[in-house]
Amino acid sequence: MKNISSLHSCYGCGVCATICPPKIIDIELNPEGFYEPRIKDTSRCTECGLCLSVCSFVDKEVALKANDIEYYAAWSKDNAVRRKCSSGGIGFEIGKYLISQGYKACGVRYDCDANRAEHYMADTVEAYIPSIGSKYIQSYTLSGFKELNRKDKFLVTGTPCQIDSMRRYIRKLRIEDHFVLMDFFCHGVPSMWVWKQYVKEVEKLTGKLTYVSWRNKQTGWHDSWSMGIEGEDGGEKINWHDSYAMLMRGKKSYHYFSRLSTGDLFYQFFLGNACLGKACYKNCKYKMSSSSADIRIGDLWGKAYKENEDGVSAVLALTEKGKALIKEMQEYCVFEKRTAEVVMEGQMRKSPPMPYIRKRIIEQLREGKSLFHISKTTVRLYKIACLPKRVINKIIRIIKWER
Ligand SMILES: Cc1cc2nc3c(=O)[nH]c(=O)nc-3n(C[C@H](O)[C@H](O)[C@H](O)COP(=O)(O)OP(=O)(O)OC[C@H]3O[C@@H](n4cnc5c(N)ncnc54)[C@H](O)[C@@H]3O)c2cc1C
Ligand code: SF4
Ligand code: SF4
Repeated sequence: MKNISSLHSCYGCGVCATICPPKIIDIELNPEGFYEPRIKDTSRCTECGLCLSVCSFVDKEVALKANDIEYYAAWSKDNAVRRKCSSGGIGFEIGKYLISQGYKACGVRYDCDANRAEHYMADTVEAYIPSIGSKYIQSYTLSGFKELNRKDKFLVTGTPCQIDSMRRYIRKLRIEDHFVLMDFFCHGVPSMWVWKQYVKEVEKLTGKLTYVSWRNKQTGWHDSWSMGIEGEDGGEKINWHDSYAMLMRGKKSYHYFSRLSTGDLFYQFFLGNACLGKACYKNCKYKMSSSSADIRIGDLWGKAYKENEDGVSAVLALTEKGKALIKEMQEYCVFEKRTAEVVMEGQMRKSPPMPYIRKRIIEQLREGKSLFHISKTTVRLYKIACLPKRVINKIIRIIKWER
């Protein structure tokens, strides 16, 4: 059939479900723990082909070809925003500014009941606060995308693959003028089975999870990979819809707190690329400046700001709309024009190779094995097996560097 039914292990962006006229597409987790579309009732499919026409997975090319990209190092002038956000707080500032200009902002929050990250729509700054901070898991998009319409103005933020499909969607509907699209440099998304297992293990200590933050700058931005979790058995609870001031105040201690630098297991699986989505390995066409967004943001890791511990955002203005937006926002943020090399230093140039243990890890997660067990057995053996290759690569890098 001329529809998305034969697609598997795609980006799971949900734009096909958003455009489908009879609304017969659902987005569900596949056996590996990644979102995937499924046609609920094939008999109602009219084979209009709209779902395929907006799908960025089936196209080898990125929808937008950006010219004369402007590169910036940037941060919010509001210290509370900068402290709370993952890097320099530009993601939140752009949302805040566009809301003040009458836009609705579609970002990602964490739903503690469903244990998932999900897109949602905000039309006030207060409502946009839960979007602050990266949630390093794949988001369920339909909850937010279903609110899009032809008459209002929207900011949509998401992973580059989600945004590439969104660009095709707004072009198809001829509503591009009403939209600002924002993506970020993207490492990839881990299987939801890693996240669900992690939550299961942490909840033994905290009780039902009530709040989670993936980044925390208590010991500086460069050491900000840390999970801060509150549970029902803990003392103070944070309500997502608390006041602006409350959420910005920065918590001193969490009920459960675990850093990558001291061995956090979620981060070991995620940043160690042990079980990312299949598309994140060989097929990702969105590295460096390849994007369909108006603005790309990220962490500006690299030599130029290595002493900065407050957080610096990398910002790419890819379209005229993106460039104009940066000019309008000078009052709220610092934007330092830099070269591409400075702004993108430290970003992944290409996708990581898929480790052969990925399938085994996912199987073990589905069997309910603990992350600790998998890490101590499967992952450790893999690292030992890869040691000779890593040593050779290191020697090649040193030789290249000395030339
Ligand atoms: C899965 C993932 C992988 C990333 N990989 C990299 C990387 O390799 N290099 C890099 O420099 N930066 C990466 N980032 C982006 C980085 O973590 C920061 O979000 C970015 O630097 C912006 O920070 P900020 O301080 O401006 O704003 P923040 O307040 O951190 O803004 C985050 C924005 O991202 C959106 N968002 C949060 N979680 C998700 C999600 N799961 N799916 C879609 N949108 C989401 C929110 O709606 C918000 O608008 C990644 C983010 C995610 C979610
Ligand atoms: S072909 Fe049209 S009707 Fe059929 S699933 Fe795709 S969008 Fe829906
Ligand atoms: S790495 Fe590529 S395919 Fe994977 S979520 Fe990010 S943009 Fe999408």
